[in-house]
This record gives sequence, structure tokens and C-alpha cells, in this order.
Amino acid sequence: MKKVCVSIALTLIAVPAFAQNVRITPIGSHPGELCANDRATVFEDPTGVRILYDVAHNLTGPDDPRVGDVHVVLLSHMHGDHLGDRRLRAVGAGTCANSERVLVPHAMTAEVVIEKDAVLVTTRAMAGFVANEVREIRGESLPICASPVAATVPVDAACRSSMDLGGRFVATAADADRGVEITIVYASHVNNVSASLLDEAQRELLSANGAQLELGPPTGYVVRFTNGLTAYLSGDTGIHSEMRTVINEYHNANLAVLNLGNNPGIYYSAAHAMNELIQPASVILSHPNEAATENGRPRAQSHTARIIEEIDAPTHLAINGRTMEFNGRGRCVNGC
Ligand SMILES: [Zn+2]
Repeated sequence: MKKVCVSIALTLIAVPAFAQNVRITPIGSHPGELCANDRATVFEDPTGVRILYDVAHNLTGPDDPRVGDVHVVLLSHMHGDHLGDRRLRAVGAGTCANSERVLVPHAMTAEVVIEKDAVLVTTRAMAGFVANEVREIRGESLPICASPVAATVPVDAACRSSMDLGGRFVATAADADRGVEITIVYASHVNNVSASLLDEAQRELLSANGAQLELGPPTGYVVRFTNGLTAYLSGDTGIHSEMRTVINEYHNANLAVLNLGNNPGIYYSAAHAMNELIQPASVILSHPNEAATENGRPRAQSHTARIIEEIDAPTHLAINGRTMEFNGRGRCVNGC
């Protein structure tokens, strides 16, 4: 904790204007906590571009008042807890370890893109699936944007990117001379579609073969904001060598937003991934798959508490509803 406070004090002296900071606000199930199913995060660039990273199971509906304007929606992979095969019944419903969620007929990602007239930035395979969901909801598909790799936001009508791993989408505010650069990067995970969102014939066919429908590779993102903050959004991933070669050496990410979890083994490899491979100035922990906090503080004996101790860089929890401000060098200067 001491390490965090010292770094904030030093950064406050060095940074002249809060207007140059990126605002990061996690949206989860229980106010003031980091809970098991929390994933959704809103990023706001100093130019006003607002990005929602993984709709997840965290919104009460596409019009959840906590979300506000969204210009770009990111979708890291097809698992229901990211695409949104359920919605949160109500803020605070259920427990922090198991928030109360309701199955929805269509992916929340599709509902949100329509509601917000936003740009969906994801791989072509995943964007195609969401476009089909949009057609089922409103009778009209989600078109590719006028440019498949860039948009001035807000766009007139919802649309989708057309690119794949390594592709870069630039979202620029109408009155800005620089845009936010969003690159799709590798994640070491799987990308099967939630069965509840498949039509019955497809579901039966797959089940007869004990198979799953995979929509290309799962992903993470590197988002370079206009103040220089370069955020690596891990998606769900195990440790992998591109963390050093692509995320660190090529993109020079200075903030890592790391999804925790048992399945990809990152509970155990997170410290090496951060300390040796990516070496960011700061880390935000999310997707804990456990009630990570109680009264806003890390729960003793939790995976999350142990990982905070193991990571060298200042490490912040994605506390639901708390807005953190980051400068261009990847340091939290307010709200952490
Ligand atoms: Zn997940």
C-alpha cells in the first residue's frame, strides 16, 4: 500500500492538468467492491472518446444508467461472461461471490451497440455473429462502418469494424486532431459461443458430436489513448510469449488491465507475466472469479490479495463505480 501512495504523490507533482488523464471506471455487480463476475470497464479519453470493454454480465440492461455515452464497444471473446448471455438482475443483486443474473434471448453486446449507436471493434468472425444478433433484434443487420478501420465518433448509426488479430481501429472525436488507437492482440484462451445463444438446430448438431462452435481466436486489446497511456486489456488469457515481444517490446504498454481466473492459470502466472514480460507502470486487476474485496478492501486469503503482493508495479483493483485517472505514463494520479 505504501508503494501505491508514494507513486501517486510523485505523479501528482509531475502532471499539470487532470484534463489530460484517461478516466477508467469499472462497472460491476456490487457498488464499492470487486466481485467475482465483474469485468465491464468504461475508458474515457481526454478528447471524450468513450469505450466500453466487454459488456459482460455486469449491466442491468442496455440502458443501464451507470454506463452513459459509449462510442466504441470491445468484445474480447465469445464466452457468455464477456459477450453477455445474461444481464445483472439489479445492482447489488445476489452476493459478491455470485451475483444474480438473468438469461437474455440476445447477446447484451448486440443490445448495447444498438442502444448506444456505437462502433463494435472486434475480429470479423465475432463481429459477424453479433451482426446476426442485431438482425434478430431489429430486423436489420449491423453494417461495416464507412471505413472498416476508423471512425469519427459518435457515428451516425451503429456499425462494426472489419479487421482481425493485429488490426488497428482509430476512433477520433469530432473536434480532435488525434484519435484513440485500438489494436486487437492475441490471447491464449478458447473462443466457443455460449450454447444458449445458438439456434436449436445448431445446438443439437454440435451436441450430437460433443463439439463446440469456435469463432476464430479469442483476443485482447492494446488501446493507445491520446495522452500516451497505452493500456493492454488482456482478455481472458494464460501467460504467453507475445506478452514480451508484442505487448511490451512493440506496443510499449504502460498499463495492464489483467483478467484473473483459474481456467487460464493466470492466478499463478500473473506475477511473472507482469514483472518479467509486460513490465507496465501500473496494473489493474479485474475478472477475479472470487469475491475479491469486502468493504472495498482485498479479502485476506484470496487469490487477488496474494497476487497484489507478488506484482512489483502499483496494483489497483477494478472497484465497481470508482473512477481512476491515469496519465500518459501509465500512473494513476487520482481515484486509486
Ligand atoms: Zn471470462
